[in-house]
Amino acid sequence: MSKVKVAINGYGTIGKRVADAVSVQDDMEIIGIAKTRPNYEAFVARDKGYEVYTLEGRVDDMKKAGIPAAGTVEDMIAKADVVVDCTPGGVGEQNKSMYEKAGVKAIWQGGEDHELAGFSFNANANYSEALGRDFVRVVSCNTTGLCRVIHPLDQEYGIKKVRVTLMRRSADPGDVKKGPINAIIPNPIKLPSHHGPDVKSVMPHINITSTAVKLPTTLMHLHTLNIELEKDCSSDDVKALFGEQPRIRMIGQGIGSTAEIMELGKDIGRPRGDMWENCIWEDSVTMYEGELYFFQGIHQESDVVPENVDAIRAMMELEEDGAESIAKTNRAMGF
Ligand code: NAD
Repeated sequence: MSKVKVAINGYGTIGKRVADAVSVQDDMEIIGIAKTRPNYEAFVARDKGYEVYTLEGRVDDMKKAGIPAAGTVEDMIAKADVVVDCTPGGVGEQNKSMYEKAGVKAIWQGGEDHELAGFSFNANANYSEALGRDFVRVVSCNTTGLCRVIHPLDQEYGIKKVRVTLMRRSADPGDVKKGPINAIIPNPIKLPSHHGPDVKSVMPHINITSTAVKLPTTLMHLHTLNIELEKDCSSDDVKALFGEQPRIRMIGQGIGSTAEIMELGKDIGRPRGDMWENCIWEDSVTMYEGELYFFQGIHQESDVVPENVDAIRAMMELEEDGAESIAKTNRAMGF
């Protein structure tokens, strides 16, 4: 069977990671990536063997800079079965008519509104509903991290209510334009934050409220969760449940900060030091007066990457079963 042809429009933090994750799968391949400028990332893409495309009117600029641009974004998507739009939030929306005109399936990221694709995706929670769809939005890094813990708890014990405080990194490590900052920023100040409603875009029945602050760090988001469950259970039951999840890593062994989780990612040889799983502090998982509490670290640059691979597989109906797709993606990426 021929491989599904995938194009990446927007080759930044998320796009370059999705390109590499698709490349190691045996049922899909990258047919091109689109860059707006011939910066170092474009040269790395060329050196990795990706065909580099660019915006209309910039092909010659790319060629002059030493990137043999293969054509425009339109040329790229004409060759693709599915395009993964990883342009900055709000830009992806402008590309929808181009994808519709080309008759190509499209995936957007969490920076776009739910309404753009009409369907918000998390592999664990709603893979089967994405089968055969033309347009899908892979939810943000924070929403992905929340869905990965809320869905199994809901399946096993039923959820009465979730309250979450998100302590968010203010910028990605390479994102010099947004930092440095030296403050703690309640963001948004009006409560609750949009994160709870975003979880509802995947699981509408979940009762969830959220608050969020931005911190002067680039090393992961940290969530504090407080959950009321329908059925009684112990903290050991919850630890065992989390331990069975394919994209949750229980952490301990002296790890006391997000910096050490990022160090672990490098030590175990992850590409770019990425930590694709939710990192839950095992010792934090506590039942107190009948309510569940725990801390989890979310690596903003990478947790959505395997989700994009599963979204492609569902939309192209390469695999009917979500658990099988998750296992296949994880195996190929080297979880
Ligand atoms: P980024 O700024 O790192 O990368 C975006 C890339 O798209 C850049 O290379 C930019 O030059 C390019 N670009 C801009 N306009 C373009 C256009 N018209 N056509 C083609 N390319 C264009 O952004 P990112 O962090 O990778 O975010 C991409 C999407 O992923 C956003 O929706 C964001 O909300 C979402 N997301 C980001 C993170 C994160 O923490 N970085 C996590 C999860 C989801």
